Amino acid sequence: MKVVVVGSGPNGLAAAITLARAGAEVVVLEAEAVPGGGVRTLDLHLAEGLRHDLCSAVHPLAWASPFFAEFDLPARGVQLLAPEVSFAHPLDGGRAAVAYRDLSETAAGLGPSGRAWMRLFAPLVERWPLLVGNLLSDMRRLHGPLRPGTLATLARFGIGAVRQGGVLPALREEAAALFGGVAAHSMGRLPSLPAAGVGLMLATLGHTPGGWPIPHGGSGTIVAAMIWDLETHGGRLFTETRVETHRDLPPADAYVFDTTPSHVARVFEDQLRPRSRRRLLAFRHGAGVAKVDFVLSGPVPWTHADVARAGTVHVAGTPAQMAAAEADVARGRHAERPVCLVSDPAVADPSRAVGGLRPLWSYAHVPAGSPGDVTADVTAQIERFAPGFRDVVLASRCIPAAQMAQHNANYVGGDIAGGAMSLRQVAARPAASWDPYAVSGLDGVYLCSASTPPGPGVHGMGGLGAARSLLRRFSQRVPDLSPDQREAAIRGRGL
Ligand SMILES: Cc1cc2nc3c(=O)[nH]c(=O)nc-3n(C[C@H](O)[C@H](O)[C@H](O)COP(=O)(O)OP(=O)(O)OC[C@H]3O[C@@H](n4cnc5c(N)ncnc54)[C@H](O)[C@@H]3O)c2cc1C
Repeated sequence: MKVVVVGSGPNGLAAAITLARAGAEVVVLEAEAVPGGGVRTLDLHLAEGLRHDLCSAVHPLAWASPFFAEFDLPARGVQLLAPEVSFAHPLDGGRAAVAYRDLSETAAGLGPSGRAWMRLFAPLVERWPLLVGNLLSDMRRLHGPLRPGTLATLARFGIGAVRQGGVLPALREEAAALFGGVAAHSMGRLPSLPAAGVGLMLATLGHTPGGWPIPHGGSGTIVAAMIWDLETHGGRLFTETRVETHRDLPPADAYVFDTTPSHVARVFEDQLRPRSRRRLLAFRHGAGVAKVDFVLSGPVPWTHADVARAGTVHVAGTPAQMAAAEADVARGRHAERPVCLVSDPAVADPSRAVGGLRPLWSYAHVPAGSPGDVTADVTAQIERFAPGFRDVVLASRCIPAAQMAQHNANYVGGDIAGGAMSLRQVAARPAASWDPYAVSGLDGVYLCSASTPPGPGVHGMGGLGAARSLLRRFSQRVPDLSPDQREAAIRGRGL
């Protein structure tokens, strides 16, 4: 069986690896010069020797995902370094809400609102593999044994999401701010049911042994390990090979697209029936982000000492300020104080600081397609909680939302989630169908990107889901993904 995979993001590579290991002849076609999609670590030429994560930087999903658990990143030399503080949320007046990997320490630090945090998260943290197995899935069936405990955990998650989504929220004060910052990863209005679901899953992972880790040497090491495995199993990857129409595709038995649904509609424009085309084009993109990479002469001078220990900082203010900022973005306006995500990788991985300089990764939520440079807004937001920040900034570079698709066509208008995380598009992603990966109306064509379940993030589960669906159709078994003898032998020979 010959399969062509279009796009080398983590989902495209997860599909390619699974299929190559199942014995398929796999070719990956990647538009950009550097493979990896949202998982590239590059020299941006801002300072000699410094490497920046172009897109993803922090990897709770890669640590927890069933695909990567079996693929076994640590066995392949990828070290996921978990800071003691998974994420933090600075507040005015030098205060902060801090999520330590230790749940009890977190609750103790949240003052009066800590008990509610403990009540909400203790049962979820206890059963996190079950939770993640069901959330990082095709979302079409139950994963795990059908026992009362399974249903009770999922019911707790559901009730928690409904409550935190706006109906009788259990969290107040510092705990509400801490949760709001995580929920904002869904890039939509706050509070909402999808945002609460995303927040509950990510915050739960923050209290697991893996925490919110940062790969030693940058996110690109994850992709390097994936490409190594693919090529070891006979797969071939071609960069600078953009697929615009089906005439750009070599003959194959099946095609897997790590792209947006609208791209598939364009590629097969003259082969799709109008109804199938409409289904693909009905998928909606969400708000954008503008990325800002900084070079600093020292650590960010956060007022609160434990914020300085966090791998990820949500710089967004109070829950009311976050809700107002996200509402502005949803209405197509730049927020005066945008929701910003910030990560200093050297907090977990000192090797990222070179010659006294360190990279700082950040992005701000902005309206879809905005051409605005947000460097001043992000700087002002950080300065608010880290006076003196401006003094340690040596250089910076912003990629506005309108330009994000120039380095990855999937980021339409700066939408880094592969499609709006609305309730409809979480439940039926990319469309209502029992098999979300097989493209309706196109025999042998599959989608595997973040526009399919389980959605955005570096977890490889869209790729695994699409590969499983394809292998089922060709009556083939899903292969083992763990590092094998052949790979060990090749590594041993230093190839
Ligand atoms: C700024 C930013 C920060 C992020 N932070 C995090 C984070 O910290 N943690 C996390 O888990 N996730 C994060 N994400 C999200 C994460 O990167 C994505 O959800 C993930 O990469 C999606 O994987 P994918 O394989 O579906 O697609 P992508 O990684 O987007 O890869 C798609 C690939 O397809 C290629 N392609 C597209 N069109 C064509 C074509 N026509 N022909 C050939 N190739 C094509 C693209 O060039 C790209 O290489 C972030 C994203 C961004 C942009």
